[in-house]
Amino acid sequence: MTIRKLSLVLIAGLLVALPLAHHALFVSDSLPSAPELAIDWARVRTLAGPVNESPAAIRTDVVARGAFFGWMICAGCSWGEVPMEFRTYQLVYANGRTVVIDAVHDAERHAAMPMMADYDQPAFMRQTEALRRADRILLTHEHWDHASGLLAVLDDPAVRERIWLPAPQRDSAAMREAGLAAERLAGLPATGETAMQAVAPGVVVIPMPGHTPGSQVVYVRRADGTELLFLGDIVWNARNLRERRGKSRLVGWLAGEDPPALRDQIAYFADLGKGSGRSRSSWHFVVAHDPEQNARLVAGGVLVEGLELAAQRPLLPNEL
Ligand SMILES: [Zn+2]
Ligand SMILES: [Zn+2]
Repeated sequence: MTIRKLSLVLIAGLLVALPLAHHALFVSDSLPSAPELAIDWARVRTLAGPVNESPAAIRTDVVARGAFFGWMICAGCSWGEVPMEFRTYQLVYANGRTVVIDAVHDAERHAAMPMMADYDQPAFMRQTEALRRADRILLTHEHWDHASGLLAVLDDPAVRERIWLPAPQRDSAAMREAGLAAERLAGLPATGETAMQAVAPGVVVIPMPGHTPGSQVVYVRRADGTELLFLGDIVWNARNLRERRGKSRLVGWLAGEDPPALRDQIAYFADLGKGSGRSRSSWHFVVAHDPEQNARLVAGGVLVEGLELAAQRPLLPNEL
């Protein structure tokens, strides 16, 4: 074969291969039509305990903002930038007790990471204060943007005894990458075997490895019966659930996820959100990085903007 012919064959090959590679890496998501994941919600609700002892309010603050490209968020989505936000959440009980879910990274880490925008230092200080006052601290997962805010309180013995980290989170390479060395986590309270369990009234953790080994969905039922699922980073945007779309294959590899597990989870929660038959789903999905989804939950009264930092005391009804 002459050089010229060989070149033509190579070019023809590339013309065929490039669209295929583009499709495989950025467009194809192939979510299962019948996900294997099954969650016994009756058991979750039983574990959550009496409804009237559940949190009265679920509060939140944005600590930082940034963006992802559309193709990173969902397969076949745009190449343009999609806004992201980084939030901490605080469950507030009628007796003034609180549980904090997720501890957003500090300003130094923010400055070092790509695709980041503004950072709210006063919000980080409020998060640190909320962590100090919390009766229990949980993480949806061990990535730096959900975990490394713990560094601000990790040396305080009174706070340490309220940090609840299951073994898959403590032992994860992502936790090391978040700056939480194994020695610094040694001696934290034991959490028992890794299994679905209640961690506070109205709050049940459901192990969900996939995005990271220590990922867990946090079920929260409010005292008025409203049910929320904190999905961590199973999806970065609620669009995946609305449109039943997976993440792109490339980002799954880059993020070090377990793509088959994650595809199954996304399909499961997308279906759960749609409801069955004529009954509309009443689930509220908390997708921490999705500004529109968080705004919807705030507008609907499911979340309340601003952490509660009053002294621990029974809250008055008009404060909830
Ligand atoms: Zn995240
Ligand atoms: Zn993550």
